[in-house]
Amino acid sequence: MDRTLAGKRALVTGSTSGIGFGIATELARAGCNVVLNGFGDAEAIKALCVRLAQEHSVEVIYRGADVSIGAECRAMVADVEAQAGPVDILVNNAGIQHVAPVEQFPAEKWDAVLAINLSSAFHLTAAALPGMRTRGYGRLINIASAHGLVASREKAAYVAAKHGLIGLTKVVALETAGAGITCNAICPGWVLTPLVEAQITERMAQESRDRRAVEQELLREKQPSGEFATPEQIGALAVFLCSATASSITGASLPVDGGWTAQ
Ligand code: NAD
Repeated sequence: MDRTLAGKRALVTGSTSGIGFGIATELARAGCNVVLNGFGDAEAIKALCVRLAQEHSVEVIYRGADVSIGAECRAMVADVEAQAGPVDILVNNAGIQHVAPVEQFPAEKWDAVLAINLSSAFHLTAAALPGMRTRGYGRLINIASAHGLVASREKAAYVAAKHGLIGLTKVVALETAGAGITCNAICPGWVLTPLVEAQITERMAQESRDRRAVEQELLREKQPSGEFATPEQIGALAVFLCSATASSITGASLPVDGGWTAQ
């Protein structure tokens, strides 16, 4: 087993589910201690921590900060560093979606999407960087999206937030260059998670079609590979970005999208 990240600690936001949990799992497999964050049933989250820790012989803790609130983001980093130890790797993954035409887009949904998908990364990065600079090692990984590179209809807030996250990634990469720290964005295409599940269910209801037909349509519209990307694939790329081999990759936006953004 390749334990290249043994002794490091990663904070992965939104890791009680989907892509975040996939990333946390691959980091743990590489020997990294993990801080899970996100919403969910308390007992189920406790069981998730125990399972991850036992399967990969790493330390796993949970912090339930609501990352839509800047002060909670900053307090979470301070608390983890005080209680558990340094945050060497920060994965800004928490995200939500809302789909509506711009004229009908509820202002409170706009605010929530921007706060969770973009502003949280600003607050968490600002809080984690001083320690990374002192130690001369840090990895900041922002989970953007194909929607950080191109747009789709009815996703104004999400597309704006993800384009913003790629901009933030580039700025942080410039400000940390030469300090042993890298900052990159991963841009997934369709990945079958609860976030996409909600969009599938909505289309099934609107158009009275079965799941298979809707899934095929989503892929046909955007993703030439015809296959969903997986949380494990995104996690494996995150592990690579944390390695010494990847130390010259910074400020990059890396699509994992089956060709979506090549079109
Ligand atoms: P998901 O719904 O499965 O997981 C989202 C996670 O974020 C959950 O753990 C949830 O509890 C957490 N979360 C939501 N609001 C939060 C808050 N205020 N504070 C703390 N945690 C919060 O979604 P996913 O598909 O795994 O998405 C993860 C990331 O990947 C998101 O940033 C999303 O935009 C991005 N992404 C997903 C896809 C896809 O196809 N699924 C594609 C491109 C990008």
